[in-house]
Amino acid sequence: MITVAELAEGVRADKRAVLARAITMVESRRPDHQALAQELLLEVTPPPDAPLATRVGITGVPGVGKSTTIEALGNHLISLGHKVAVLAVDPSSTRTGGSILGDKTRMGTLAVNPRAYIRPSPTSGTLGGVAKATRETIVLLEAAGFDVVLVETVGVGQSEVTVANMVDTFTFLTLARTGDQLQGIKKGVLELADVVAVNKADGDHVVEARVAARELSGALRLIHPRGSLWRPPVLTQSAVEGTGIPEFWEAVLRHRSTLQEAGEFDRRRRQQQVDWTWTMVRDAVLSRVEQSDGVRSVRAEVEAGVQDGSLTPALAAQRILDAFDAPS
Ligand code: GDP
Repeated sequence: MITVAELAEGVRADKRAVLARAITMVESRRPDHQALAQELLLEVTPPPDAPLATRVGITGVPGVGKSTTIEALGNHLISLGHKVAVLAVDPSSTRTGGSILGDKTRMGTLAVNPRAYIRPSPTSGTLGGVAKATRETIVLLEAAGFDVVLVETVGVGQSEVTVANMVDTFTFLTLARTGDQLQGIKKGVLELADVVAVNKADGDHVVEARVAARELSGALRLIHPRGSLWRPPVLTQSAVEGTGIPEFWEAVLRHRSTLQEAGEFDRRRRQQQVDWTWTMVRDAVLSRVEQSDGVRSVRAEVEAGVQDGSLTPALAAQRILDAFDAPS
């Protein structure tokens, strides 16, 4: 049995076998693994004055070019001397059995680069479980010396908000769409985005991409009025040709330094830790309620009552909470 001290030492030395084992431990739902994982996280958490890695979220619909962008960006970052980790948050992979990063061939050259580490989405069930494992994995990867962590997600349900809350800069990839087609972009994702890039700006699509970028810029100006600390830039790029990728990274760094200079960067990170704490409390309370004997015994009846209209949702919620409180 490997000790926490040995795990911590192996993680800090970026021994990949140990790192993989440590990540498996934070992903595990077994109580003994969970306890060890928490000890390990405390052990490897850097001192407050240690340099902070850059955490970047990347979202966009399937096919927009996230993997291709990560491959190009990752290689660019490695050429600048960085060590790059790539994670994914994809709760749907639990259901489909496939992950957006499951197929590493989509990031062929990055996957084999010793200065990169690619880990597919954990398949621990709920978004809450996946998010917890991902956040904890980020801590381990930073301890192993990865100074850039890219977190990929697809725009499914709450996963974008979840990822935006665990990174410093949230980026949104899109395609050249104009006018009416722009309406198809969820306003929510634009509100979360710190950097927007119109991908596939190559071949016949360069002009179209620039027009789309201008229109998106206009939409963003409505969300971030003049005087806002940061107004998200809209860039154009071609992940396959590698054009615009250095500019994409420069925009991320500009965002970071703007927040840092305003004292907003540290504040956000601290707030993320507090939010994360409460998210875990909420998840745990909900699961206790759902698992309790009292709630299990009334659940079917209460749900049926809501469905046939004999109970209002508010009354039903009260019945469930009463059943939870009642001594069993
Ligand atoms: P993801 O699903 O968002 O990860 O998208 P992928 O990175 O897998 O890309 C989907 C498809 O679009 C692939 O066939 C890529 O080769 C292609 N693609 C990605 N980026 C570009 C680009 O910048 N230009 C062009 N022309 N094709 C691209």
